[in-house]
Amino acid sequence: MLPLNDALHQMLQQLPQPTATKLLSLKDAADRICAEDILSPINVPAFDNSAMDGYAVRLNDLEEGKPLKVAGKAFAGIPFQGEWETGSVVRIMTGAMIPSGTDAVIMQENATVHEDGRVSFTQIPKCGENLRRKGEDIQKGDVVLHKGAKLTSVALPLLASLGLEKVSVFKKIKVAVIATGDELVPVGQALGEGQIYDTNSFTVSLMLKKLGCEVIDFGILPDDPARFEESFIQAQQQADMIITSGGVSVGEADFTKTVLEKLGQINFWKIAMKPGKPFAFGKLGDTWFCGLPGNPVSALVTFYQLVQPAIAKLSGFSEWKAPQEFPATTTVSLKKRPGRLDFQRGFYHVNENGQIVVESVGFQGSHLFSAFVKSNCFIVLEKDRGNVEAGEKVTIQVFNEILG
Ligand code: AMP
Ligand code: MG
Repeated sequence: MLPLNDALHQMLQQLPQPTATKLLSLKDAADRICAEDILSPINVPAFDNSAMDGYAVRLNDLEEGKPLKVAGKAFAGIPFQGEWETGSVVRIMTGAMIPSGTDAVIMQENATVHEDGRVSFTQIPKCGENLRRKGEDIQKGDVVLHKGAKLTSVALPLLASLGLEKVSVFKKIKVAVIATGDELVPVGQALGEGQIYDTNSFTVSLMLKKLGCEVIDFGILPDDPARFEESFIQAQQQADMIITSGGVSVGEADFTKTVLEKLGQINFWKIAMKPGKPFAFGKLGDTWFCGLPGNPVSALVTFYQLVQPAIAKLSGFSEWKAPQEFPATTTVSLKKRPGRLDFQRGFYHVNENGQIVVESVGFQGSHLFSAFVKSNCFIVLEKDRGNVEAGEKVTIQVFNEILG
């Protein structure tokens, strides 16, 4: 059996970075992947300005308690015009361009306005106080976003603040989703004897959409090699990747393997992980292929651990981060047989002592999907580990947004 990390490493080595890009206006670019390093065309701030409502002053004019004339006003967007005589100050608002020669801004709370309109100050400020300097945040030419970053709800406003109207993004990748099995029925139809509803098409399509892919739903295939062949060829013509579920084991109705060996180059791996043992990875023509196991829990876990990073690479999302792992204390005992890396479903929280603790969410069979909705993390139990006692340290892997 192949260790999970070796499988992942082999997949990532083969998968290319994308090249196809598209120019989008910022408004349409939410959650897309940036296809170029973005350099700032301007300084931010673009000019020295005031951080406070108050008075722009020159230190040479100031003496504690001495009233000074107000030479004029500066508003955000309406700079001070005219002569700034010696021995006077300028009334200024937050964000207003400071008049040339300003050493500091004194906030209005520290100023006393006299009846004749003059102002005095109780404290003399330091040079530069309450000033925002040109280029302090971003200098013209700085890289503000790297190629491979996601255009999030903080990244896009940043580009807007630089006056950028359009951004180059990688094209969405197209993924064909295929469920296989004579027993499967789509939702909306009554179940016959021995039939079950197709879960995996939902799981896979939903996670793909969260990863920014365009999904082509190929529905359910009966266990018939001729139908497999026909669908795989059709999917290959339309998609950058095909993801199937089911039919990758060695049962009598498991045709994925035979059909793929005929049509393309495919590795069938028995991965040393639980749930999820059988997994196929390869290529049909120019289209990548991932064959997930049929059990809904196994399909989800293998997608999350293997397909998710593969999609990130194929989409150009080079700043993608693997789900975060933390040490935690288990509050319950966990059943585990040595031999495979185990992803049990767990629920973690921080207890009253500030410790991260995790509990199991019940039976862990790969055919039991309901526990997933009660979980917020995987409890990752190392390959060689056996049963775990309550109170032992374990590693948890917190679910990321595709399971949110
Ligand atoms: P297989 O790998 O095709 O032998 O499938 C393993 C188990 O997963 C069987 O119990 C199947 O009925 C079940 N299964 C396969 N595909 C799906 C699906 N799309 N939705 C729900 N269960 C499935
Ligand atoms: Mg099957």
